[in-house]
Amino acid sequence: MAGKVGDKTCNKACGETCAKASEKASSQQRPFLILLTLVGGLFAAGAFVIWWLPSVGLSAIHPRLPYWFGLAMLALVTVVISGLGLLALTLVSGRDLFIFPRLRGLVIKYLMPAVIAIGTVMRLDRDTLQRSFIHLNNQLVHSRNLRVPAAKAMILLPHCLQMADCAIKVTGDVEKCVRCGRCDIGDLAELARQRNVTLAVATGGTLARKLLMEIRPRLVVAVACERDLTSGIRDAYPLPVIGVFNSRPEGPCFNTRIDLEAVRQALDAYVVSE
Ligand code: SF4
Repeated sequence: MAGKVGDKTCNKACGETCAKASEKASSQQRPFLILLTLVGGLFAAGAFVIWWLPSVGLSAIHPRLPYWFGLAMLALVTVVISGLGLLALTLVSGRDLFIFPRLRGLVIKYLMPAVIAIGTVMRLDRDTLQRSFIHLNNQLVHSRNLRVPAAKAMILLPHCLQMADCAIKVTGDVEKCVRCGRCDIGDLAELARQRNVTLAVATGGTLARKLLMEIRPRLVVAVACERDLTSGIRDAYPLPVIGVFNSRPEGPCFNTRIDLEAVRQALDAYVVSE
């Protein structure tokens, strides 16, 4: 597997570059990991208060009721703290420690978005948290050691990558792009053609979901902004999605750009050519 950002199994002697990349990856994870710890602590404290307060009155209904209520709260706290703990350990060790896929699903679909929501309430920067979430998601996918045949992999692009004044309708058929070089769609189309990977452009979440239903890939390399990647990864679960951020030199949703090398690295890491 090619050495990549945050790749803890990299066996290349890539020295300083790899160390710097790994350091950058860790720093991107840090805000979310700190928040995870905080949310875990708050949740445990909240669960204790919820158990303790009514337990005083519950015994009036039945003497064993506080005991059963306490057990239920303990089970809930155990599941949530285990999910948070396994997530943190998976991210730190670089290995998939989620023995139960359902627990991983609970973490990605509910726990991680809840952590972002709590972070936003705490007035932390939403973009930074979402970036951290995407990075953690990529690491979770990476820890599963996936190798997917090219025919089962897909690159999904947002419509805003296309030059706004381009008259060609690339949604539906990217091959219509004449590779004029004014935007990155042409290079991405060429990369997808060389690797025999499906490439699609979606105008929004609904079309993206429809494309996934039709094409049924086993791995998606999705390019989008922080917000769309966060919701897309959640919606697509259990389908593994590697998120790649676009850049917005002219503002959001307009003539956005992509680092082609990041997409190429994702294909190198997870797609097997046939
Ligand atoms: S590269 Fe393709 S999509 Fe982009 S502006 Fe040129 S023709 Fe249009």
